[in-house]
Amino acid sequence: MPLHRRQFLATSAAAALLPAATRAQDDSFEVTRSEEEWRAMLTDLQYEVMREEGTERAFTSPLNDEKRAGTFLCKGCDLPLYSSETKFDSGTGWPSFYQALPNAVETKPDRKLFVTRTECHCRRCGSHLGHIFDDGPPPTGKRHCINGVSLTFRPA
Ligand SMILES: [Zn+2]
Repeated sequence: MPLHRRQFLATSAAAALLPAATRAQDDSFEVTRSEEEWRAMLTDLQYEVMREEGTERAFTSPLNDEKRAGTFLCKGCDLPLYSSETKFDSGTGWPSFYQALPNAVETKPDRKLFVTRTECHCRRCGSHLGHIFDDGPPPTGKRHCINGVSLTFRPA
């Protein structure tokens, strides 16, 4: 299985490089906090997802079933990220939206898996939110698959 082995090694190398690259980007965000400050304000799970690009388990976030009108804010800096008007039930077990609010999220390629995915994070504090896929509903055709622990819901 030489091909399989090469792929595995390449993926491991890429994953090993990722934390340093992520840290280097933090300086460019409007809201910055030290690792200690983030640890103090977040739970372990929130820190793992928001600051280390982890993923919460599917169907664990109460926000997955949130159907009230309102706004979803970044848990890291309170920036409004998504409107309830763009939320839909994707069946994946993660809060899903077809569109972010204007000037709310930024993206970058995520090569941690064999398939390159589009990672998305808060444009103001850099906290990881989730990924954006191309199998969403109209009008955008996008599916923002977001970790509920990265969000705070504010009812309208
Ligand atoms: Zn933020």
